[in-house]
Amino acid sequence: MKNVRTLFSHLKRKRLTVTPTTTETRITYELQSAVDGSPRVKVTSANSSDIQRAIEDAQLAQQVWYNDYSAQERARILSKASSILSCRLDEVAQIEVMDTGRCISEIRTNDIPSAIHMLSYYAHLPGILSHGSVQDVHLSLLSYTHREPLGVTVGIGAWNFPFLNTVSKSAPALIFGNSMLYKPSELTPSSALILADIYREAGLPEGVFQVLLGDGNVAAEMIHTEHVRKISFTGSVETGKKIYKNAAEKMQKVTLELGGKSPLIIMPDCDIDRAVQGAIDANFYANGQVCSNGTRVYVHESIKDDFLATLVHQTEQLKVGDPMDEATMIGPMVSKDHMNKVLEYIRIGKEDDGATLLYGGEKLNSNGNFITPCIFVDCHDHMRIVQEEVFGMLMSVLTFQDDDEVVARANATKFGLAAGIYTNDIAKALRLSKKLEVGNVYINTYNDGPCELPWGGMKQSGIGREGGSLEALYEWTECKSVYVKID
Ligand code: NAD
Repeated sequence: MKNVRTLFSHLKRKRLTVTPTTTETRITYELQSAVDGSPRVKVTSANSSDIQRAIEDAQLAQQVWYNDYSAQERARILSKASSILSCRLDEVAQIEVMDTGRCISEIRTNDIPSAIHMLSYYAHLPGILSHGSVQDVHLSLLSYTHREPLGVTVGIGAWNFPFLNTVSKSAPALIFGNSMLYKPSELTPSSALILADIYREAGLPEGVFQVLLGDGNVAAEMIHTEHVRKISFTGSVETGKKIYKNAAEKMQKVTLELGGKSPLIIMPDCDIDRAVQGAIDANFYANGQVCSNGTRVYVHESIKDDFLATLVHQTEQLKVGDPMDEATMIGPMVSKDHMNKVLEYIRIGKEDDGATLLYGGEKLNSNGNFITPCIFVDCHDHMRIVQEEVFGMLMSVLTFQDDDEVVARANATKFGLAAGIYTNDIAKALRLSKKLEVGNVYINTYNDGPCELPWGGMKQSGIGREGGSLEALYEWTECKSVYVKID
């Protein structure tokens, strides 16, 4: 794990994180390897003086970034960041594996290429950035709107897709002329520092994007000021509610990307192999740690036996092991605490809920955070493993008999992030998709996430949209109306 230590000292030399200026206490914590539990890296949290200084710097830097750099110049910097990232793909992928425990095969082929594309995508937006409208209200009045940045924004990230999280928040913030203070999850701090390094190398002025390390207390302090005009948060519903409440007092804008417990509906006319693959992707990708995972798998009663036989056979093929090995498909859980949370839900499923454990759910005999993918059957809607977000590889299989019934049951949850349908009847899938109370519907696929589309949840899964498209992009701007008397 030498790489991470080297990276931290290298970045410290370049003063990319806020460096100590006072003798005020600074909390230090240590991260362990998810693979074998050995000490991996020491992280020093930002303290109050660091936070205050970062906010002041971000205010000044934002003025320069918006007023002195044209949209095209800002775009060139993002575009260059995309190219630099392409050259550093392997390095970033390896660091991300060490922080998250996720498999190199996923991160190298999905996360980092998506981030490269995302930076380039946002760099191509200047053409629509100045979109406003002219309103023909009266002959003697020219009235029009235009878009302006919000000012200082804060991004707060979760630990499952840390690098993508950092890019997906910072790139749209920056292209519109905002500055951003970013607080990655305390469990996965490294890749945000690399992004700061890449932005610097691409020519981003100092202070426009700053990374502050630490836990939730650091994030809470960062947003506890009216100078921060927007908070873009990815994390749990519980934390999202606290942020929303505090933001209301200061009238800060928020986008909240929160948890889920999404339904995956398997219709009797589907292609079973494809549906099984979908269920595996929707439950075990990223070691099951995906917000939109389709963990409530509703299978039509008539195909249950075939579906389960194929599912178990396919799940047995998933290689669990060293996440740095290209052939590995399941790595360790991000931390011991998180592994224990998932194991506790497996116990609840067996002992309290009374579901039947069909496959897996064992802790591997190692110092790492390894568990095998877990499939429960004989599940019912009221069970805790069916109602609560586990955020690990726990699939609950339920059965249904007709379409209206399954839609009603799919919607009977406080969450509303995503849903999936596997069927060969596309007309039916389109009809059902309109009835599902979720922000994202997948038909004969699962967990695609092109950055061109808005992303977000309904109900307690979130507020607002992030990602591409105007709905999401305008969340990074204010709209101003201008009235000009012309006679
Ligand atoms: P979390 O809520 O524990 O932490 C998320 C971030 O919030 C961390 O950086 C943490 O330090 C910070 N934080 C904690 N307390 C805070 C406070 N009081 N004020 C401000 N910030 C605070 O979530 P997590 O365990 O890191 O992530 C897992 C959760 O994230 C799951 O519920 C998952 O579904 C959700 N998630 C959602 C999406 C989405 O796009 N909807 C994507 C990824 C993860």
